[in-house]
Amino acid sequence: MTTPMKEGSAAVQARRVLVLNSGSSSVKYQLLDMEDRSRLAIGLIERIGEETSRLLHTSLTGGAATRERTGRIADHEAALKAAAEELAADGLGLDSPELASIGHRVVHGGLRFTEPTVITDEVLAEIERLVPVAPLHNPANIIGIRTAQALRPDLPQVAVFDTAFHTTMPEYAARYAIDVETADAHRIRRYGFHGTSHAYVSRKAAELLGRTPEEVNVIVLHLGNGASASAVAGGRCVETSMGLTPLEGLVMGTRSGDIDPAVTFHLKRVAGMSVDEIDVLLNKRSGLVGLCGDNDMREIRRRIDEGDERAALAFDIYVHRLKKYIGAYSAVLGRVDAVVFTAGVGENSAPVREAAIAGLEEFGLAVDAGLNVVRSGEPRLISPDYARVAVAVVPTDEELEIADQTFALVERLGRTAQPGQAEPLGQVDN
Ligand code: ADP
Repeated sequence: MTTPMKEGSAAVQARRVLVLNSGSSSVKYQLLDMEDRSRLAIGLIERIGEETSRLLHTSLTGGAATRERTGRIADHEAALKAAAEELAADGLGLDSPELASIGHRVVHGGLRFTEPTVITDEVLAEIERLVPVAPLHNPANIIGIRTAQALRPDLPQVAVFDTAFHTTMPEYAARYAIDVETADAHRIRRYGFHGTSHAYVSRKAAELLGRTPEEVNVIVLHLGNGASASAVAGGRCVETSMGLTPLEGLVMGTRSGDIDPAVTFHLKRVAGMSVDEIDVLLNKRSGLVGLCGDNDMREIRRRIDEGDERAALAFDIYVHRLKKYIGAYSAVLGRVDAVVFTAGVGENSAPVREAAIAGLEEFGLAVDAGLNVVRSGEPRLISPDYARVAVAVVPTDEELEIADQTFALVERLGRTAQPGQAEPLGQVDN
């Protein structure tokens, strides 16, 4: 691997970062200019491997313009190549000396990766060793990394882990109360996910309160299609709702969240379902979709307005679970400075925010009805002045956080590298 530093010392300042989020059948990418942290291009490739693959590329240099490609994109390699072509068509080709790094969202970093990490062969092998605990996610991330490495083998590439922010959880929060030997042999414990979002949003919430992250205790509710809560004390995660996998915790779009684990034995022994069928049931056919057939909160609210009882019950179950976590995490933190809503539902659904906070006055929590319905892309308070605990909406930005972390690491390496010395990328302390 050649060094970014040698290139960095040349006339061209490498200040762009490509952020790649490779899912099982999709790739999302964003190219950012870290000079002013602006977006140069945003893209999404979905349904990879199907006849109906689609690439949407939005060029943001000189006004926003979106291009669409449809038709089969065979695999992740083809997807990334297509993305590279689109970027090149905008004059933003990946071969540009202005590209400083590629930052990869990697879902599972286990216990080892507590920080963004430059990807070496050894790091990649460790991400691969974690596949048994993240069978749906890490393989796609690995393919994304390998393909990006093939496109720019000279570039330092950085893994930013969804689990990293949660590695500060105390052992009593992270460990399940099951036989220790069995748990350790199979690396079974609470890892937590959406960490990049929880980190970004908790920091932004402190900023909104005019305090430093070290000074505040916040509960973050990341409510997207996947949903998770975290308790963050003084900038460090002390508890989170997702566990060994993203299945645990809140009610989600298609995942059940918490259930009695014996439900799975029952489904196998009594209903005769296979483990794979139960996996699909709990991950894909449960949550809001399982309860009422829809996982989009907008549609659920529309149905409720029309008097649909199934949709109303699904909404109540969703909100009840949220309330339980707000209460539990208030107890875990002792003192709460803010409850923060983020991601698709959290940022956009005033009814969910209102219902989740309703009745929690004794906890110092209240929502101002007027502030709650204001639509804005900015971080904002929605609690009344008298409330002891702030309630806030903070739009998440995982891509910006990944780009920031990636660029900071690459810059740090650039400063520490000795001229003419082999690049010590593999020795970066994780
Ligand atoms: P993910 O990144 O997990 O796919 P997002 O954070 O984009 O998910 O959230 C997607 C969800 O946000 C949708 O399924 C929908 O339920 C919800 N959502 C998006 N926009 C709105 C809106 N205007 N009102 C209510 N819910 C919304």
